[in-house]
Amino acid sequence: MLRDAAPWLVAELEKECSRKGVESGIRVEVVRPDGERETHFSVILSAWAEGCVLVLNDITHKVKAEQQLTRERNQSALYLDVVGAMVVALDASGAVTMANQTTCRTLGYGVHELIGRNWVEAVVPEEQRDEVLDYLYLVFSGQTESADEFFYYVTTKDGEDRLVQWQHKLLTNEGDMPIGALCSGMDVTEQRASEEALAEKELWLRSTFVALGEAVLILTPEWKIIDANPAAEIIFGMTNEELVDTPAETLHVDAVHNAEFKVRCRAAFDERKRVMFEFPMRRQSGAVFPSEQSVSLIIGDDGHPLGIVNTIRDISSRKRAERVLRESEEKFRRIFESIEEGYIVTDLGGRIQMVNPATCRLFGYPREELVGRTMDELYLYRKEQLFLHKALAGGDPVRGLKIQVVRKDGAVITVDGNAHVVTDDNGDPVGMEGTFRDITRQIEAEKVLMEREQQYRAFFENNHAIMILTDPKTGNVVDANPAAGDFYGYSQEAMRSMNMSQINAQDEEEIFREMDMARAEKRAYFILQHKLADSSIRDVEVYSGPIMVQGRQLLYSVIHDVTNRIRLESEMKTLATTDALTGVDNRHQFFSKGSQELRRALRYKKPLTLLMLDIDYFKSINDTYGHQAGDEVLRQLAQASSSLLRESDIFGRLGGEEFAVVLPETGLRLGMEVAERLRKRLSEVRVDFEGKKITFTVSIGATLARRSDKAIEDVIKRADEALYKAKRMGRNRVDRA
Ligand code: GH3
Ligand code: MG
Ligand code: MG
Repeated sequence: MLRDAAPWLVAELEKECSRKGVESGIRVEVVRPDGERETHFSVILSAWAEGCVLVLNDITHKVKAEQQLTRERNQSALYLDVVGAMVVALDASGAVTMANQTTCRTLGYGVHELIGRNWVEAVVPEEQRDEVLDYLYLVFSGQTESADEFFYYVTTKDGEDRLVQWQHKLLTNEGDMPIGALCSGMDVTEQRASEEALAEKELWLRSTFVALGEAVLILTPEWKIIDANPAAEIIFGMTNEELVDTPAETLHVDAVHNAEFKVRCRAAFDERKRVMFEFPMRRQSGAVFPSEQSVSLIIGDDGHPLGIVNTIRDISSRKRAERVLRESEEKFRRIFESIEEGYIVTDLGGRIQMVNPATCRLFGYPREELVGRTMDELYLYRKEQLFLHKALAGGDPVRGLKIQVVRKDGAVITVDGNAHVVTDDNGDPVGMEGTFRDITRQIEAEKVLMEREQQYRAFFENNHAIMILTDPKTGNVVDANPAAGDFYGYSQEAMRSMNMSQINAQDEEEIFREMDMARAEKRAYFILQHKLADSSIRDVEVYSGPIMVQGRQLLYSVIHDVTNRIRLESEMKTLATTDALTGVDNRHQFFSKGSQELRRALRYKKPLTLLMLDIDYFKSINDTYGHQAGDEVLRQLAQASSSLLRESDIFGRLGGEEFAVVLPETGLRLGMEVAERLRKRLSEVRVDFEGKKITFTVSIGATLARRSDKAIEDVIKRADEALYKAKRMGRNRVDRA
């Protein structure tokens, strides 16, 4: 029976029949245990009136395959759940048929909240939906490769957008009809953000690199240039193209320099340090310039060097400036060492920090004894020291301060000092700096000068001699002493505002000419006429000379009133040369003038006639009318003769009633005519004396000067002879010899 043959089948069938009833037939799967193996059958039981039909199909293979599939599906579901990628399966309508745990975790949805929903509508941000739909269309239409990546955002349940890198795989059925798509996505939000940050940073670095004023070279670890910024192009005179791929050596002066450069860098690279040094570099033109270099190694994440950053700063101008500074310092030092002026730097306490050789000389101390000493020990007077301290404390520089200082040898010298406070860069006082010079001798000289000036002033003020100081350019009176005031009749004050033209009686032109001569020291003595306040004129003797007063050239004058002396002198002169009775030249004067005229006549070969004249019987005039009448006759004779003779003729009384005339440039014939005119004129003279008319006659002897005449006496002697002849021949006549 079937029950015995296949109890596993009967039991299952009975169970099924009791559950469903047998009328509609039974379909069931039954397992026949078979030791280790199992056999699966599909059993169909169809019943009708006479009995039933039982159909068994061995479906073990199919069941096993299905079991395998289920196992695999479970495994892959498990796998999908543990993978880090988002995995979503979509059906042909785009509805979600599967979503793994990562998807759910990323989006914040439970899996059932996703299954059955349209993927794009559920998670893609609205603005990106069209784009995503277009892409999915391409996926479904098989126009994309499964390896193609597509980035789009998904919005989480919390509303956060996350960027996901998607890959899609088209799912097809056996007939190659698309039934869905498998989408796997990597959340790259953080990665992209950091990439963007990096890119931004790189961009920033790049622009810094480009914009940097300093030349920057990027080198490979093998010292080959990978990149150079514009500043580097300028500094080396090469384009980026020319620089890139050339070895750094090209820019070095020579191989030795290049080797040294590498050694310096290596040492620093070993310690992973940036190295900085000054190094000469070479431009394209071949010109070498000093540079300041900074070299650092770029280390990759793996700890290996990626490259070298080499920054180069052209320091030619700085070097030049340094040299100029050094030179100017040198210059300053030389000045400092060589100037005669003392120079001292002290700290704020007055302790000497630095002195120059002149200071040592002036103070008589060697340098080492001065440095460290305080200035206060050197001052003679405490009040001067305090004054200086106070002034400097106020921040004001001190100029021209006269201080007395004690030298090492005890001698006191006076110095003229300038000092000021030295400040640091912040303007805070750090010390004092001063210069000074020894003015001891100058002060002594000034003292002597002052004393002398006082002496002169006293001399000037108290002198009885009239003294005036004038400005020769203007003629203004600069100073006048009291004696001058007394003499001219003005106050001293009034004198000082006067001009010499108000004093000098001569015309202005003459005054200036004279003053000019005095200034040039051509003449120091003048006889002038000065006008006094009362308008009287005085003869003055002026001694003048130039004098420098405070850089101004003036004229000093000492004036003597010589009015009386001159009058006396002229009187004496008249007395000496004229005849007191008649007023004509006396004998001495006649001889003197006559001699002069004779010499001239002989030298120039000009004729000269001399007349000798004697009154006839003069004794009897005296006897008849008296001596006084005789005198009057003599006076009238002189007057009549003088008026008849020329200005240039010399007429003199030689003695008694004897007169003589020298007629220069007159020949004997003309001389005789003059003599005759004279004789005649005198014979017509009527001398009124006590009511009586006295007449007289004269005899005249004439002679021409000869070459042989040694002196006027010789001529006179000959004329005398002619006169004697005239007397002898009867008087009242002219004769010649
Ligand atoms: P003659 O010359 O013609 O021969 O005669 P005489 O009378 O002029 O003679 P002589 O020359 O000898 O006399 C000069 C006199 O003149 C003598 C003297 O008394 C007089 N006599 C001389 N000097 C002066 C004088 O200054 N005044 C006066 N009144 N008589 C004088
Ligand atoms: Mg006579
Ligand atoms: Mg006589």
